[in-house]
Amino acid sequence: MASDPNCIFCKIVAGAIPCFKLHEDADTLAFMDINPANEGHCLVIPKSHHPNLLETPPDVLGRVMASVHKVAAAVQKTLSPDGINLVQANGKGAEQSVFHFHMHIITRRVGDELKMNWGHKPGDMKAIGALAERIRGNVG
Ligand code: 5GP
Ligand code: ZN
Repeated sequence: MASDPNCIFCKIVAGAIPCFKLHEDADTLAFMDINPANEGHCLVIPKSHHPNLLETPPDVLGRVMASVHKVAAAVQKTLSPDGINLVQANGKGAEQSVFHFHMHIITRRVGDELKMNWGHKPGDMKAIGALAERIRGNVG
């Protein structure tokens, strides 16, 4: 499996750095974002390293999307947001900051005024961990 020793998400896949895991299968991993744009913000990644959408094989994208479907349903069940955005950045101009393909699952509330480039504000790790446990319990 493709891996990059300098990639933070490859380190998470390898277990070298911790994450609040929500779901995993043979090819994908879902975990909480530690700088949440909104409550319940999480990420789904392929376990193999591909820098962006265009460099990710379509079959891998399909497996990531199946995992997104499962985890988004768990987030919906746990938090009952008014909506969910899937966001995915490619390249510096799109404000991509981690160059390992990932899908953002972001909860939305009516009137939350969340903008596309939401900035990275560190979340409350205790609250994120507690929420991860609740979402994990709803992954079908
Ligand atoms: P991008 O800016 O590439 O679209 O998204 C990268 C995301 O990865 C950001 O939302 C950022 O908060 C998140 N992130 C960066 N480093 C880590 C980390 O070490 N752990 C977790 N869980 N998320 C991270
Ligand atoms: Zn990687």
